[in-house]
Amino acid sequence: MTSATLSIDLGALVRNWQALDAMSTCETGAVVKADGYGLGAPVVGRALLRAGVRSFFVATAAEGNTLRDAIGQGPAIYVFSGHMTGDTTAIDKAALTPLLNSVDQMLRHVEALPGAPFGIQLDSGMNRLGMEPGEWSAVRDIALAQGPAMIMSHLACADEPSHPMNAHQLAEFRAMTDGMDVPRSLAATGGTILGPEYHFDMTRPGIGLYGGLPFVDAAPVVTLDLPVIQVRDVMQGETVGYGNTWIAPRDTRVATVSGGYADGLIRAMGPNATLYAGDVPCPVVGRVSMDLITADVTDLGGDPTELQLLGRHQSVDTVAEAAGTIGYEILTSLGQRYHRTHVQ
Ligand SMILES: *Cc1c(COP(=O)(O)O)cnc(C)c1O
Repeated sequence: MTSATLSIDLGALVRNWQALDAMSTCETGAVVKADGYGLGAPVVGRALLRAGVRSFFVATAAEGNTLRDAIGQGPAIYVFSGHMTGDTTAIDKAALTPLLNSVDQMLRHVEALPGAPFGIQLDSGMNRLGMEPGEWSAVRDIALAQGPAMIMSHLACADEPSHPMNAHQLAEFRAMTDGMDVPRSLAATGGTILGPEYHFDMTRPGIGLYGGLPFVDAAPVVTLDLPVIQVRDVMQGETVGYGNTWIAPRDTRVATVSGGYADGLIRAMGPNATLYAGDVPCPVVGRVSMDLITADVTDLGGDPTELQLLGRHQSVDTVAEAAGTIGYEILTSLGQRYHRTHVQ
């Protein structure tokens, strides 16, 4: 049984971080939540550490724990979900820096781990995580007296540079933080590209490191090759796959590859997706199954041994568009069945 091969180009990952780092004069962190956007937080974290990253961001304390084991003591690991019930042991043991989202979280943190580092997450308008302006002004002086490591907020529309929400959130963030002697962070990938007024003391890109939009100049990081299991002739008028959704318009050579929606190859991409044999596009025919995809290889003039979904010809964002989603979801859906290789 040959499994599909997911190749992760750590050199490209590092170049993407360096390119985003070069856009600002401040520190550039790295977001490695959701297992490094599906690519493996330990290996991604170690590559970025070697490249000079000193501040990492994860979604949960459990992710922080895993990352700490991989990168060792020293670099800061910030946790977006803050300090939740049950997190105290992990925060303490793995020396994590929770980004406290509420007064409740602040009380929990200072009671459970007095003197332990923390940051503050403010809501500047996204209404998802963070203290609102009123809440912040009530606890601000107490929080500042404890010396927070960072104050941060998150932009809702940074991938649309002309969206008025960007300037609105920038003004809100400044109103809540100007004049405080604490490092500030507002920009993810989109905010880093928006420009210097969004950078403050640290940017914290995620998706751009992994080759996704809105970083248009990102180097592709993932290549996904799916081995061909079988190739057959399908006569004009015959059907392929579940539901008979595809009817051969001509006599067709059809290849069946190993990989399906259980591997994160989203079923909805089916009718719009393309696999590649070298430079030649091979349209997907019929529905994406749990473990299999079928493609038209008639025009190749020979049977391929593997077909490529992600790579030079097709980015995570192209595939995302075929599936009606975003590159983030394609990456974080990539399954555990792939044989993973790393290119330096
Ligand atoms: C996910 C996330 C990021 C990284 O965003 P990208 O768009 O992937 O660069 C930064 N900050 C917060 C709060 C996030 O949730």
